[in-house]
Amino acid sequence: MAQHNRRDYYEILEVTKSASQEEVKSAYRKAALKWHPDRNPEKKETAEAKFREATEAYSVLSDAEKRSAYDRFGHAGVSSAGGAGGFNRTIFEEFQDVFGDFFGFEDVFGRGAAAAGGARGRARVQRGSDLRYDMRLTFDEAAAGVSTKIRLPRQDFCEACKGTGGKSGTGVVACETCGGRGQLHYQQGFFAISRTCPNCQGAGQVIREKCPECKGRGRLERTRTIDVRIPPGVDSQTRIRVPGEGEPGANGGPAGDLYIVLEVKEHAFFERRGADLYCTIPVSIAQAALGTDITVPGITAEEKVSIPEGTQTGSIIRLKGKGLPDPHGGGKGDLYVCIRVITPTKLTREQRRMLQQLGETLGVENRPADRNSSFFEKVKDIFG
Ligand SMILES: [Zn+2]
Ligand SMILES: [Zn+2]
Repeated sequence: MAQHNRRDYYEILEVTKSASQEEVKSAYRKAALKWHPDRNPEKKETAEAKFREATEAYSVLSDAEKRSAYDRFGHAGVSSAGGAGGFNRTIFEEFQDVFGDFFGFEDVFGRGAAAAGGARGRARVQRGSDLRYDMRLTFDEAAAGVSTKIRLPRQDFCEACKGTGGKSGTGVVACETCGGRGQLHYQQGFFAISRTCPNCQGAGQVIREKCPECKGRGRLERTRTIDVRIPPGVDSQTRIRVPGEGEPGANGGPAGDLYIVLEVKEHAFFERRGADLYCTIPVSIAQAALGTDITVPGITAEEKVSIPEGTQTGSIIRLKGKGLPDPHGGGKGDLYVCIRVITPTKLTREQRRMLQQLGETLGVENRPADRNSSFFEKVKDIFG
């Protein structure tokens, strides 16, 4: 174990295990003052090591979560917080009164002294935002596909200022605070600190005179007309990606994408599962018993369906390839026709007489059917 010779954090800060946050803080302040490298020029290396050690100890013991992990598991419990990079800038900010004496923070922040050099920095390249457009389609439009145009407002670059927001020519100047780098860097002793330039928020440049076209925003709202092709067979929640039609990127970054999110209206009688369609067709008891050919409305044309002799209610007839096309270019789905035998309800006297006559010739077998032959089971199998 490489960690066996690491010193105990409490020992480093010379506090007890039950020390309060205030005690830990004041112990660290004392150690930081004592071991600050700038105060120990004659033994700089030892001082640096001690200073790091104390800062690492403080970064763990000042954090309730890390401290409790350390108490239970030792260095292994906080290994990610340990090591040379185990402290962050917040400590320096918290103890600015301590470090300020040596580091001249006020001086640096106040006058932008770190901005020496003046190298022009690159502003951050950013991809534009994606846009979403909701489109409603009828079932038939979704089945057949649509070519259409949509009008879409989006934030385009202001051409007058090329997106900078400054009046062309003299409007935009390099930030004086950071010399155009967008970052302020401090190299003090053995550690480096950088922070986003507060004057330009990291852009490296500031606007002196606003562009009159866009009022300094660099963007203008424009409505664009975009040609959109919706492939046949799409469904609700299908997302169509139109690359590059989102908002433009910042500082030369690529544009975002446009996502068209579809909502397809339900059909009056077709239910869809993926590319397959389901519908229920009523037939009379005579048609079911004798068999017949009927037509059902399909997606593009009427479809002929042969009802075989002796068809039971709940029978399902599959019409292969008569479903919807696969929008990804696969084959077509199937159309499933579920037969419902309709029992007549309003019989004329003549019809009643004929049915009675027929009934006398039919065998009667009124006992419960086997579950497997139940049409509910069949429907369940197919409709999943
Ligand atoms: Zn700046
Ligand atoms: Zn402009």
